[in-house]
Amino acid sequence: MLKKLIAPLQKILLQKKLCPACTSDLTIIKDRKPKRNDTEIVTCRCGRIFIYDKDLDLYRRALLDEIE
Ligand SMILES: [Zn+2]
Repeated sequence: MLKKLIAPLQKILLQKKLCPACTSDLTIIKDRKPKRNDTEIVTCRCGRIFIYDKDLDLYRRALLDEIE
């Protein structure tokens, strides 16, 4: 029940370019590494890792195999 409420909220926060865990503004995070031409790996202050898609201009949670 709780999970059903949290998942959409996390999605909304990511759409607003905020970390769902600590609500940091992901656009000002300096720890970002280019992954391919169109994506960056962004590591939040709280340690969570996100993928920034430059083409779509959106953030999403990184999958395990994308981090290594
Ligand atoms: Zn965070």
